[in-house]
Amino acid sequence: MYIDTHAHLYLEDFNEDIETVVENAKHAGIQQILLPNISASYIEPMNRLQKAYPELFRTMIGLHPGSVREDFETELDVVYKELQSGSYIAVGEIGTDLYWDVTYKDQQMIAFERQLNWAREFNLPVVIHARNSMGLTIETVFKQQNGFMSGVFHCFSGTLEEAEQIIGMGFYLGIGGVCTYKNSGLNEVLLQIGLEHLVLETDSPYLPPVPYRGKRNESSYMVKVAEHIAAIKGVSLQDVAEKTTENAKKLFKI
Ligand SMILES: [Zn+2]
Repeated sequence: MYIDTHAHLYLEDFNEDIETVVENAKHAGIQQILLPNISASYIEPMNRLQKAYPELFRTMIGLHPGSVREDFETELDVVYKELQSGSYIAVGEIGTDLYWDVTYKDQQMIAFERQLNWAREFNLPVVIHARNSMGLTIETVFKQQNGFMSGVFHCFSGTLEEAEQIIGMGFYLGIGGVCTYKNSGLNEVLLQIGLEHLVLETDSPYLPPVPYRGKRNESSYMVKVAEHIAAIKGVSLQDVAEKTTENAKKLFKI
């Protein structure tokens, strides 16, 4: 049994066939799917999906760095209000993204730091997005780590050194389809880092593993990620499933 710790199955991409996607996930042995939020406009569809399959889905709340604009203070007010409802298992996804656009870099940092503070205030783990900004993101978390903060660097694709910094802070690495891509550089990281530091994810509908590249990603494809990790590390698929599921349960208290 697996836990997909990161999937956006509430997006329009799944409007036509979410029932099939859910069935496929169950058949593949995915017992829980964790839904990170993006911005206020996605709260309603995310929570609606969770209510339709309450045993399968758990939800998070947070403002994604790619959605930080002039109105970010209004967006953050919504996040804080939702956090007070107590129905979310994590603050996510939050972080920095300097890949597409650096216009709102300062605002991204304000939003990231404030949401890290709220995670500590509400005693919740954080789900972190870092793109073209791994060093900055690690440094920001490091400064706020008071010994009680936990979380995951989702869709990790950094170096072994960065992986070691992250696990040194007590955080997990979220491993998804990228590890199956040639030249991802992740095999070295997977060889050196123990299973006790990894959780699995898809980031559906994005970043599908081989052999599904170019298609829409879905939770059932996560088995390909687990198979790749098992092959690289020379361990059984069952070991990968059991250990990463245990890690996810511990991190998200589910
Ligand atoms: Zn995501």
